[in-house]
Amino acid sequence: MSSTLPALPAVGTLSEDQIRGAACVHCGIVLDNATAVDLGERLARIADLTVRWWPRACRQHP
Ligand SMILES: [Zn+2]
Repeated sequence: MSSTLPALPAVGTLSEDQIRGAACVHCGIVLDNATAVDLGERLARIADLTVRWWPRACRQHP
């Protein structure tokens, strides 16, 4: 796992659109395929499950 990946907000604090990559994981702006930055596969604990999710961000974040 690269150490250059930015820290992400906890999944539990995010909207459904942010979790499924339709909205920026940091600021919540709606993304399209031209502007989204794929942040790679992440693992999150939800209740007793470990789930994979693929957050995306807009270009305003380092
Ligand atoms: Zn953003």
